[in-house]
Amino acid sequence: MVNITPSIFKIQRYSLHDGPGIRTTLFFQGCPLSCQWCHNPESQAMGKVSEVKNIGELVESLVREIERDRIFYDESGGGVTFSGGEPLAQPELLLALLSACREQEIHTCLDTCGFAPFNILKAASTAADLVLFDIKIIADQDHQAFTGKPVGQILENLRKLAHSRVPLKLRFPLIPTRTDTRDNIRQMIEFLRSQTPYRDIHILPFHTSGEGKYERLKIKNKLNHICPPTKERVEEVQQMFEVKGFNTTIGG
Ligand code: SF4
Repeated sequence: MVNITPSIFKIQRYSLHDGPGIRTTLFFQGCPLSCQWCHNPESQAMGKVSEVKNIGELVESLVREIERDRIFYDESGGGVTFSGGEPLAQPELLLALLSACREQEIHTCLDTCGFAPFNILKAASTAADLVLFDIKIIADQDHQAFTGKPVGQILENLRKLAHSRVPLKLRFPLIPTRTDTRDNIRQMIEFLRSQTPYRDIHILPFHTSGEGKYERLKIKNKLNHICPPTKERVEEVQQMFEVKGFNTTIGG
């Protein structure tokens, strides 16, 4: 892991998450949301991102870094994942990286919370090989309370993206008392069934590995009293989706 620029706060090599095969994950600095369960709270501030001047040079150096592990991508069906933070919050850099990776025939995943103008989401999704789209909470009031932003644009974006044939995986972070409520899961199933063709969902159970960061950064951790969901609860949630015709995967 290295700190490389104000735009990218971390580069993680040999990752087995966030897309197929062995991947290099670039974590973009800055996120419009502030989810209470965020594992990367240090990624939320936009900070000095706007000071980055020469995107061309930055892209070149990042692609050189990405290419170092090409042999692992080729052997495992992996590639690079753009995560964060929220990559769509730096569209110029993201689009340039996606285009450079496509030229180099490196598989790309875009990991997004979907909170961005649709034209930016559409352009980046089309330029990526796979979109990992997080869906968290359907009720606007709860979304606003637990992530800091309204949900309307995210749901509208997902609805619109569903018509564009972009390869997409849905991911549902399962957070006790926040996203993991009977009402939210019911509403999510209803929304996905009525508004989208997507019937595969990756359930990402809450874990406490980010806790130490909150202490170090002196940020109030609003979930420090919450434990990860039990195996039984995760299975119950899987069942709720599966009886309604969804395929579920834990993790991913
Ligand atoms: S969308 Fe992701 S990066 Fe942004 S605050 Fe939520 S969990 Fe953190």
